[in-house]
Amino acid sequence: ARQFTRPLNDLANQWNTLLSAIAGAERVFEVLDEDEEARDESASVSLDRLEGEVRFHNVFFSYEEGGKTLDGISFEARPGETIALVGPTGAGKTTLIQLLSRFYDPVSGTITMDGRDITTIRRENLRSHMAFVLQDTFLFAGTIRENIRYGRLDATDEEVEAAARLANAHSFIMRLPDGYEKKLETGGSGISQGQKQLLAIARAMLADPAILILDEATSSIDTVTEIKIQEGLHRLMKGRTSFVIAHRLNTIRQADRILVLKEGRLLEQGSHEELVARGGFYAGLVKGQAS
Ligand code: ADP
Repeated sequence: ARQFTRPLNDLANQWNTLLSAIAGAERVFEVLDEDEEARDESASVSLDRLEGEVRFHNVFFSYEEGGKTLDGISFEARPGETIALVGPTGAGKTTLIQLLSRFYDPVSGTITMDGRDITTIRRENLRSHMAFVLQDTFLFAGTIRENIRYGRLDATDEEVEAAARLANAHSFIMRLPDGYEKKLETGGSGISQGQKQLLAIARAMLADPAILILDEATSSIDTVTEIKIQEGLHRLMKGRTSFVIAHRLNTIRQADRILVLKEGRLLEQGSHEELVARGGFYAGLVKGQAS
């Protein structure tokens, strides 16, 4: 029912719903993947391991003939770095992530991971190296334990709990009447927005991917839960290449590199200090938030 509370024409939210569905596992996508892979003849490689180095080389993309949704994007993420994507609505942040996870491929230019063109990697395999923590976490009808285990289906109960502890989700789960056996409804009614995020972090922790995609929540979450989320995220991001669609200045400041997008172009990239010193678009955004 979650979807019906949102504007139907909101493409970003449809994407969120879709992405949430694959967070950590691929079961939902088996049918879709067959079609995708059929069209995907060159994508023959499956990688066992990924260091998490990502490069965009002059990437162009458009949803329509003649458009420029992404207009010549080039950047590098070294393994373990945090990359913040910043820019106005419609700038192309979500599209960039969609290309990274191969919901679409570039019109021209290439995206590489560990030096390999990602169009040569099987989608299913590529996504198994990624986890998504999004604003609207996909929770299905089942127990909390099952919902976390969705991150890695063969995980033991101990592993599920260990992931929940690292994610800072364990304590709230233990306060629930049925603990890990509490049944959730689709969409997770009965637990708070913040608690859903903690479950998403636990699920991603269990998946243990090289690459993380985070879409920072814009809705307000109580301070205590927010602190838990930040701490859980910090542990999750450690040692993984993370792409954050960031809304909060504090998160952006801590990124190794900030990519400032506007109308599909990469206007500026650098650390917070570098971009502030530069006095460009980002510096203007920061001033705007501070005042
Ligand atoms: P952001 O995440 O920065 O808000 P998006 O990547 O969602 O930006 O959108 C970039 C541009 O592409 C916008 O003009 C948006 O309307 C358009 N767009 C996004 N998704 C689609 C789609 N599936 N089909 C057509 N246009 C799209």
